[in-house]
Amino acid sequence: MKTAGQYIESLRELNTEVYFMGKRVRDLVDHPAFRPHINSASVTYQIANMPEHHAIATARSHLTGERINRWTHIPQSQEDLVNKVKMLRIAGQITGTCFQRCVGMDALITLYTVTHDMDRALNTTYHQKFRRFLITTQAEDLMTDGAMTDPKGDRSKRPAEQHDPDLFVRVVEKRADGIVVRGAKLHQTGATNSHQILVMPGQAMTEADRDYAVAFATPVDAPGVIFVFGRQVNDSRKWEGNLDQGNPRYGSVGGEAMIIFHNVFVPWEHVFLCGETDFTGTLVDRFASYHRQNYGACKSGNLDVLIGAASTIADMQGTLKASHVKDKLGEMAHLVETMYSGALACSFHSTMLDGGVAYVDPLLANSAKLNTARYYPEVTRLAQDIAGGFPATLPGEQELDNPRVAGFVKKYYQTKPEVDPVDRIRMGRLIENMTGATPIIECMHGAGSPQAQKVVIQRTIDWQAKRQLADAVIHAAPFADHEGPELS
Ligand SMILES: Cc1cc2nc3c(=O)[nH]c(=O)nc-3n(C[C@H](O)[C@H](O)[C@H](O)COP(=O)(O)OP(=O)(O)OC[C@H]3O[C@@H](n4cnc5c(N)ncnc54)[C@H](O)[C@@H]3O)c2cc1C
Repeated sequence: MKTAGQYIESLRELNTEVYFMGKRVRDLVDHPAFRPHINSASVTYQIANMPEHHAIATARSHLTGERINRWTHIPQSQEDLVNKVKMLRIAGQITGTCFQRCVGMDALITLYTVTHDMDRALNTTYHQKFRRFLITTQAEDLMTDGAMTDPKGDRSKRPAEQHDPDLFVRVVEKRADGIVVRGAKLHQTGATNSHQILVMPGQAMTEADRDYAVAFATPVDAPGVIFVFGRQVNDSRKWEGNLDQGNPRYGSVGGEAMIIFHNVFVPWEHVFLCGETDFTGTLVDRFASYHRQNYGACKSGNLDVLIGAASTIADMQGTLKASHVKDKLGEMAHLVETMYSGALACSFHSTMLDGGVAYVDPLLANSAKLNTARYYPEVTRLAQDIAGGFPATLPGEQELDNPRVAGFVKKYYQTKPEVDPVDRIRMGRLIENMTGATPIIECMHGAGSPQAQKVVIQRTIDWQAKRQLADAVIHAAPFADHEGPELS
């Protein structure tokens, strides 16, 4: 397993083609726009090497018997799924933001299971190839970007019907030694600081979309792979200073990028689905369930940090003992534990897939993600309520070094003799960072928009069975005397 430091150093060896604000970035690791996200991802390596988290953040590979980082593990049991959830909460508590590695983890799990199904049904060799790929990923402790979301163009049209055929990633050429792919994936979390990309179709494909039914792995620095790093609210604070970032070490959300695949060659060894449209629906559903499991856990960890910040600010401002503040903090904790319960419940309610892989309960996993999309903004609203308006109107951190006003700023932001006004400002900036637009949009759309979860919930529920239950209740015969409840 890599240490956090080895992970960061390994990124220096990659020759990725990355653009940010119109310029090519060659020093990614030391670039202020990228470094916080790299630090955050490095926590996935750090906790695997921490004695107190070792049991949860590592696992034994079912392929090699070696101890590996859980972020590369294929869950073999209910306990593995539960440990995945616990690990995500721990990482969320340390970073206070997204640590990026779960999309790739879920892509590994999903493709492991779907290639298994394809080999059994179609006599293909995808699973054997995938096992080899997985062994390398585990042995080298590689960070994988899970790439599912296509640009999608006109949402009312299928991939093959779009005005531009590249709006979904597709195979443009098949050769004896591999395939050539073209297209793009958007919103890719941690992509610029990953070692490799696992590309999957983003929706069930029909026969007409056969060229779009493709899954493959590619190194991040393969020729034709181009990254365009996204901007976030207030991101210029990363290179303007430190305190105003709110979370200067780990940043906000996952450092998302657009990945362009401009005629990228992929050898057959790393092609894991190519034209098998019948398996794309299962692939998307499984990935979504594993990934929606996470949201109840990682975001709980993040919100633990926010609850701490809100509680501290209330204490600093003399409102902690007010009954409505205590009630709001309690409400925040209740919502967070409800999110977490869903992540745990779908793990405990697991089943085993054919290839011996533990699978979360899709109904509960989707419910957990839908709760997160609803409750995360509600918890942030309560934190903003408790904090007051100052996180939105604070002077810039440079004023703390401005001899004319520094004393005044500290004087008027100090609430009590024992409160350090700079600490209060720091806490306010953290609340601003965690309750702003970017993390709230992430909770809404990451792992699929709320409607995607509702579709799964609506089609999974046995509505007829529920109607029969109601029918049984209204038509139940009265108890005979000897069956009646005993009244005392
Ligand atoms: C911070 C962040 C990180 C992310 N990380 C990753 C990542 O690492 N990897 C990855 O692959 N993806 C990632 N995503 C992408 C995420 O999965 C998508 O944003 C999500 O699936 C929604 O897709 P979209 O953004 O294209 O929105 P859309 O699909 O366009 O959704 C917008 C609205 O349109 C509705 N809609 C969409 N299609 C239809 C239709 N046909 N008919 C009717 N209504 C429709 C939706 O329900 C929604 O209300 C990330 C997203 C965010 C915000």
